[in-house]
Amino acid sequence: MAVRAIHLYGSPVLRQRAEEIAAVDADVRELVNDLFDTMAMANGVGLAANQIGVALRVAVINAEGQTFAMINPRVLDPAGTDTKEEGCLSIPDAYADVTRPDQIVLEALDEDGAPFRLEASGLVARAVQHELDHLDGVLFIDHLKPMKRQIVVSRWKKDHRGEALTRVPQPEESKAGG
Ligand SMILES: [Zn+2]
Repeated sequence: MAVRAIHLYGSPVLRQRAEEIAAVDADVRELVNDLFDTMAMANGVGLAANQIGVALRVAVINAEGQTFAMINPRVLDPAGTDTKEEGCLSIPDAYADVTRPDQIVLEALDEDGAPFRLEASGLVARAVQHELDHLDGVLFIDHLKPMKRQIVVSRWKKDHRGEALTRVPQPEESKAGG
């Protein structure tokens, strides 16, 4: 178990479509543990494997008291819409309102390889969709209108000019992202 460096906006792995897990083995369980450790250190509500440089379809969630790993996740039956401010551990300090379906059904494998199904709404539904986006190489800024997206991205690039493309989360960080 280990806290891993988080890849930041500009790192190519964030734009990669992550690959399906063929078998949930000890390596996958270690990846899940590293994701949990890294998410906890960064105070995140979710974290996807490609955010720590591993392009596999694995992510973890910790939102509204629900903590779980999701392997090869699929989102079904999206319903309703909700607009809330969203952030991302890979684009630290950038926040913007994102509209998403408010209710979803998640189907995935857990860290033992067992299939599960979860009806989610509110922050859990938002976090699941945010992480599933990551696994498809999509970032929350891609949901913004072009003008808004450009403002958020150019401000972020200005504030983070010259910084490395990865960063190990530090204990003092507090504001949540995914
Ligand atoms: Zn994110």
